[in-house]
Amino acid sequence: MDNNHLQLSEETSINEKEEPADEWEFPRHRLRIFNIVGEGAFGQVWRANAIDIDGKKGESTVAVKTLKENASEKEKSDLLQELAVMKGLGAHPHVVRLLACCTEKEPTLVIMEFVSLGKLQQFLRDSRAERHYGNTHGGSKFLTSRDLTHFAFQVARGMEFLSSNGIIHRDLAARNILITEERTCKVADFGFARDVGGTHVYERKSDGRLPIRWMAPESLYDDIFSVKSDVWSFGVLLWEVVTLGSTPYPGLSAGDVMRKVRGGHRLEKPEHCRRELYNIMYYCWEAEPSARPDFEEVVALLERLLCTETDYIELERFPDHSYYNVQHLDGEKL
Ligand code: ADP
Ligand code: MG
Repeated sequence: MDNNHLQLSEETSINEKEEPADEWEFPRHRLRIFNIVGEGAFGQVWRANAIDIDGKKGESTVAVKTLKENASEKEKSDLLQELAVMKGLGAHPHVVRLLACCTEKEPTLVIMEFVSLGKLQQFLRDSRAERHYGNTHGGSKFLTSRDLTHFAFQVARGMEFLSSNGIIHRDLAARNILITEERTCKVADFGFARDVGGTHVYERKSDGRLPIRWMAPESLYDDIFSVKSDVWSFGVLLWEVVTLGSTPYPGLSAGDVMRKVRGGHRLEKPEHCRRELYNIMYYCWEAEPSARPDFEEVVALLERLLCTETDYIELERFPDHSYYNVQHLDGEKL
């Protein structure tokens, strides 16, 4: 199958029954699809040009999320759910913004702002090489302790915004944070997210591939998700940032992680991470959800670190070799 060709509409549609126009609907013919920029088991994200979108005249680069042809009804409803969550959100500098959608027929297209440097996880991994080869050419990814703390702070701001809007993300991890050329981090991938309305808690009814290493014990064992389980995941994300994109709990299987986390085991303090910063992640991993901070408090704690001149992450001591990245683990989302 031709992977670089996205069919925008079915060849023949029997009757062109028009749905009532929604303020978000966008005509497909004003999109030019280019290359794939990201791909999951069922979804694909493409770079595209859109004509006259988002109140701007002329062409704009956008990201278009759609489903592969093998997607099931469940995946279709997940994409529509993701769209519904994004429609309900106002703009925030640290959350990927919905621009428009095409839902009047299949395939459904979700049109978002294009975030050019891609996943934070890969960006952090790529930055490791710069430590060895220097930063002589443009577009250097050379990172300082302050850059990394600032990334975490920005993600916390995005999450503070989502939680104040009643949204639980449920898949917060460095692979779902995107980074711009200006090094602004944005929370993305609402495929798993839910608007929990008044209850503030969500019980999962069905499952799929799970982000075990980012999940709080109550999510792993009781299927309970809340802002506080997102806070747990944020702590793991903070560890990913400090270790430049390492896979959490290196050397442990998913089953080991589940058992050990329930037994009180936590990710260890990386040697090059100062205690003050490690304490923040550790606080996010309180066994009792109500004992964890909320995102407002996490933002305040990180902001306090940013107000000092101290390097909380001593990158010159980063032991490249001792953190490896697991690429595939059966049935696990990494
Ligand atoms: P999935 O549900 O398949 O994980 P994501 O929303 O995480 O989907 O997107 C998959 C990948 O596509 C991302 O990891 C990233 O590389 C790329 N991507 C997603 N959204 C954008 C965007 N708005 N701008 C640029 N790249 C994006
Ligand atoms: Mg993703």
